[in-house]
Amino acid sequence: MKIGLRIDVDTFRGTKIGVPNLCEILAAYNVKASFFFSVGPDNMGRHLWRLLRPAFFMKMLRTKASNLYGWDILLKGTFFPGPVIGERLAGIIRAASNKGHEIGLHAWDHHHWQAHIDTMDRPALRRILLKGFDELTRITGKPPSCSAAPAWKCSNQVLLEKERLPFYYNSDCRGRSIFYPSVDGKALSQPQIPVTLPTYDEVIGRGSVSELNYNEYILSLIKPEELNVLTVHAEVEGISCATMFGRFLKKARSKEIALVPLGTFLQENTPVEKSSIERGKIHGRDGWVSIQV
Ligand SMILES: [Zn+2]
Repeated sequence: MKIGLRIDVDTFRGTKIGVPNLCEILAAYNVKASFFFSVGPDNMGRHLWRLLRPAFFMKMLRTKASNLYGWDILLKGTFFPGPVIGERLAGIIRAASNKGHEIGLHAWDHHHWQAHIDTMDRPALRRILLKGFDELTRITGKPPSCSAAPAWKCSNQVLLEKERLPFYYNSDCRGRSIFYPSVDGKALSQPQIPVTLPTYDEVIGRGSVSELNYNEYILSLIKPEELNVLTVHAEVEGISCATMFGRFLKKARSKEIALVPLGTFLQENTPVEKSSIERGKIHGRDGWVSIQV
């Protein structure tokens, strides 16, 4: 049984501290994963404060956000322009690539994408995708083979622009199976590998899910005959929850569950399914996300 392991890297701190930590934990269990990097300016502090509404504030308390993200993430880009991650931390990104992990593009500017996806036209989307693509190519010496839209915020326009770049696949939505996205009745050529499992911040503190049973809970959601894809965050599983994540890998191994880069799934079988991507809501996450329908 396999779980696709996707690691989203949203911030400067996540890249600097979380990525080397995760590389070490993964190496201890001989696991390769898909890393999706943000390579432009880190303005995530701006994003988090912008969301400081009552519901979000409760979520921050529930997940102990300052522990989870660190105060420096919460403040990054709030008062000053954020540091450009790809310029300052290229060595860390390159090291993850050299260790044999699959490298994909997450964002140029994660905050900007989340805040402006609705108002960006096709040329603006193209510019921003290309900026991230070029920077990641410069850093690793080869073009990223895949991409994952920040915060699962995608649109048909985004899909059409991604078609112009040489991505082998994209992981832009939540869903159940690998599919070719269809836009205006026409199937595109780059398959989608959706995320099927919830993230830590979506479920922790809800119902009876706690630090103590989180790993068991995630493993209980695995469906043996179906696609299983888990997203972890460099800022969370790579820092504050690193010990727990190590235990997760150990537990998965004891159950003979292999964690693999997402691209592995495409080597095994060619997707035939066609689906479209629409906006929807999921438990524990603020705002809309793209969902396979
Ligand atoms: Zn992200």
